[in-house]
Amino acid sequence: MHPISKQVFRGLKKIASRNLAVSATNRQQPQQQELPEGSGRLPLTSLTEDEAAMKETVAKLAKEQIAPFVRQMEDEKKVTDSVLKTLFDNGLMGIEIDTDYGGSGCNFLTAILTVEEISKVDPAVGALVDIHNTLVNTVINRYGSKEQQEKYLPRLAQDTVASFALTEPSSGSDAFALKTTAKKEGEHFILNGSKMWISNSDLSGIFLIMANANPSAGYRGITCFIVDRDTPGFSVAKPENKLGIVASGTCMLNLDNVKVHESAILGEFGKGYKIAASILNEGRVGIAAQMIGLAQGCFDATIPYTLERRQFGKPVFTFQGMQHQIADVATQIECARLLTYNAARMVEAKMPFMKEAAMAKYYAADIAQTVTVKCIDWMGGVGFTKDFIQEKFYRDVKIGSIYEGTVNMQLSTIAKCIEKEYKH
Ligand SMILES: Cc1cc2nc3c(=O)[nH]c(=O)nc-3n(C[C@H](O)[C@H](O)[C@H](O)COP(=O)(O)OP(=O)(O)OC[C@H]3O[C@@H](n4cnc5c(N)ncnc54)[C@H](O)[C@@H]3O)c2cc1C
Repeated sequence: MHPISKQVFRGLKKIASRNLAVSATNRQQPQQQELPEGSGRLPLTSLTEDEAAMKETVAKLAKEQIAPFVRQMEDEKKVTDSVLKTLFDNGLMGIEIDTDYGGSGCNFLTAILTVEEISKVDPAVGALVDIHNTLVNTVINRYGSKEQQEKYLPRLAQDTVASFALTEPSSGSDAFALKTTAKKEGEHFILNGSKMWISNSDLSGIFLIMANANPSAGYRGITCFIVDRDTPGFSVAKPENKLGIVASGTCMLNLDNVKVHESAILGEFGKGYKIAASILNEGRVGIAAQMIGLAQGCFDATIPYTLERRQFGKPVFTFQGMQHQIADVATQIECARLLTYNAARMVEAKMPFMKEAAMAKYYAADIAQTVTVKCIDWMGGVGFTKDFIQEKFYRDVKIGSIYEGTVNMQLSTIAKCIEKEYKH
């Protein structure tokens, strides 16, 4: 091993792995401070007691029950059973589902904080939790009939993973050009087509499938159906071989004369496009949370190393050239967090939030890429090895600028909102 000896390399690994184990917990967390009386509005990062308690619980669970399995999940390309059990047992798969249905009965920001905390440790598990909660659970919570809620919400909260299936081989950014059809036959619909890149689908028991039930009406024919995995004619292909978030199973789905009763329609006939558009706006705040968690997790794993690693007789952190970069990156993470929390609070306040959600997702995905690149730079040669978590974050981060709308689609949405604001 050249130019550094094996012994020195082992020493570096020791510093880094010790730091990896402690960094996330030992970093001085900003304290929740009481504001002076009469000081008016709270800062965006202030949390209610319940939100703060959940954030702390999730951080502890992630460190103790997810972190030890990160490498195994990466190697096996699958979220391990014990991690899945931890998520369900601790209410993290039914965050906004009412307690009457076995959920945690929390708010949207709590879902965002959960995704952020888990993604600090493993963004692949963050993707699983995010998509299950902010897409599938929210659609059924919001648009499901009483019967559908009674049938599905307890399963979603307690033991069954779910997927949201919009994308197809020929329709990605232009999602509503989808070709899967739903043909009416008496009280039933027959679904035919295929879906691509469907997250969680290696594990899912429940699928929300967007299909066109009236192609002559164009996108106004798109309807959302709930399909159980064991429905005849429905099959899930083997997971794609991906660059990052490899433990998050992403598969193609095939629908070959899948027969579902009309009671499987979620929301109204022909309103699937509205459901998809509104839910993906909200989902983007979740992806922003995944990205700020990833960025913070990478930063937390790196800074302690720069404080211990010495060159020219000093810790590398002490060089001004390093400090300015570190300060700049820390500022970017904070900006992304503020955009994300603000968008989440706007969702809760039922304010229009389309522009803010697109900005949060666009910016968080963008800066998270910078953060992972910089962290590898600051680690030097060891950052370039698979022995350290930074290289995983570097690969995982790329998905943030692709799914739930690419960078270009976020920028187009932001521009559309600006045009509307300025046009008379
Ligand atoms: C790991 C992973 C998980 C996913 N999970 C899910 C899931 O659970 N459910 C689901 O339904 N989908 C999922 N997707 C699909 C994802 O949302 C799409 O990949 C994404 O929307 C982009 O579509 P595309 O891949 O077809 O790219 P394309 O739409 O073909 O885009 C290719 C390029 O063209 C650009 N482009 C396209 N149109 C325009 C335009 N009008 N203006 C400017 N530029 C444009 C894009 O920005 C991009 O750079 C997942 C994808 C991945 C990779």
